[in-house]
Amino acid sequence: MRYTKLFLPTLREIPADAEVISHQLMLRAGMLRKLTSGIYTYLPLGLRAIKKVEKIIREEMERAGAQEVLMPTVQPADLWKESSRWDVYGKELVRFKDRHGRDYCLGPTHEEVITDLIRGEVRSYRDLPLNLYQIQNKFRDEIRPRFGLMRGREFSMKDAYSFDADEEGAAKSYQSMSGAYNRIFERCGLNFKAVEADTGNIGGSFSHEFMVLADTGEDAIVSCVECDYAANMEKAEVNPDYITKEQHETLPVSMERVSTPNVRTVEEVTQFLSVTPKQLVKTMIFETSAEPVAVLVRGDHEVNPAKVKNVLGVETLELASEETVLKLTGAPAGFAGAVGLSIKIIADKAVEPIKNMVMGANEKDAHFIGVNRGRDFEVSEFADLRLVTHSDRCPRCGKAIEIKRGIEVGHIFKLGDKYSKALSATYLDQNGNKRYIIMGCYGIGVGRTVAAAIEQNHDKNGIIFPMPIAPYQVVILPLQMRDGEVVSAAEALYEQLTGQGAEVLLDDRDERAGVKFKDADLIGVPVRVTIGKKSLKEGKLEVQFRATGEKELVSQEGAEKVILDMIKRELGN
Ligand SMILES: [Zn+2]
Repeated sequence: MRYTKLFLPTLREIPADAEVISHQLMLRAGMLRKLTSGIYTYLPLGLRAIKKVEKIIREEMERAGAQEVLMPTVQPADLWKESSRWDVYGKELVRFKDRHGRDYCLGPTHEEVITDLIRGEVRSYRDLPLNLYQIQNKFRDEIRPRFGLMRGREFSMKDAYSFDADEEGAAKSYQSMSGAYNRIFERCGLNFKAVEADTGNIGGSFSHEFMVLADTGEDAIVSCVECDYAANMEKAEVNPDYITKEQHETLPVSMERVSTPNVRTVEEVTQFLSVTPKQLVKTMIFETSAEPVAVLVRGDHEVNPAKVKNVLGVETLELASEETVLKLTGAPAGFAGAVGLSIKIIADKAVEPIKNMVMGANEKDAHFIGVNRGRDFEVSEFADLRLVTHSDRCPRCGKAIEIKRGIEVGHIFKLGDKYSKALSATYLDQNGNKRYIIMGCYGIGVGRTVAAAIEQNHDKNGIIFPMPIAPYQVVILPLQMRDGEVVSAAEALYEQLTGQGAEVLLDDRDERAGVKFKDADLIGVPVRVTIGKKSLKEGKLEVQFRATGEKELVSQEGAEKVILDMIKRELGN
């Protein structure tokens, strides 16, 4: 492709509404443009990168035995009512009526539609296993769309669904998809980690997320330095080995009310009373889809809402408003405590061994000291309810853990019979018995993968595309467009390389060298070939690899081979 023909509107300035690097660079490199909040048009450069990711996905899905289908974006409400998700999915689901007054939604996911297809077609165990996938646009009405393709409202996704006769088959399908996902992200040239994840509102029993590691990532990932344990922050289990000898030996004292005027935060309370955060117990009030609940955690710990949700088995969980806290505890936020509280109380396991706790007195400007469980209040259940911290140990092997940042690009779920039961998707087994089909579902954010690749691979000058997903593999920069020899050397190399199947961008603009270098760096083409009057006199061209900055002067005749070898090496074949 010639630069002068390419629709590539690059920007010098960082667009004001782009908060994260990938969004800034995708706008600046002319890869996409915003239509409206969370909805984007892909321009040629952006679309090429996306198509490359899609191609890798298709190849690996087919290799794993999945077959491509394409389902509609518009879905009837009836199916969502059958699965009981119409009422619980919330405002992310865009709902509307057609001219006959029938309810529809824009598909945020396709479990209902695919299960409806399968229940109509699969009759016997002979029809199973089956794995169907699509690459299609989803719509989720995010409350705060931001970060460009990272959290858009309309986005391209690969979603696959597996159907098996039994748990054993479903486990095999899950493994096979896990293998395919590892190959997909490896082939995209990304540094990633598969981590255990919470199943959230898709439901099901078992799940992993594929995270691209990047300091700018939204998600925290917990992993062991020794064994292969890795989980996202929501899911990460706490190693329960934390009860100290002192905690065993401390004797209970009597409870006392102390005045703590305007002292609310953990820092303020511990300083004011000269105690450590380990002595303080925080009482957090949550409202749920069932009754309100008080959750106790140690002063230096944070509640993990996903764990609380799972322990209570509730659909929704939200931190109570100031107003509700006042109503339930009789005190403003910051002074809640378990003593005398009439709502359900559950506590993190780390609270169990604490003697002589400090906690809010359910009264403005007052705390209790010397509080002891059993004597002063009761807890209905102890469970792992908190977020892991740097000082925790691996729940599997007890060694140290690391907390890194990542961007979720893929998610696989073992669904079990959740949807097949709700929608009556059954088959007849060898003995003629009707059985529910066991399902799995497997997603990849396609645009998000490109954005995550940029978050992981960039420098101050622009994008550094991994070769497998680069929109172009080589950019040729003739520095003097009015010099016949320079131009014909550039044209000749362009013909040679494209003839060999390389994807080449020829910067044939009559621009200053500085402008050409800047744009080449910004759009992140992996191999840059510079053709200048001076070196060409000696029959030389300069080849530079964007990722490492290594440059070499090569002979005009040898350039083709050097460049093709570089592409091959980077594509890993
Ligand atoms: Zn470990």
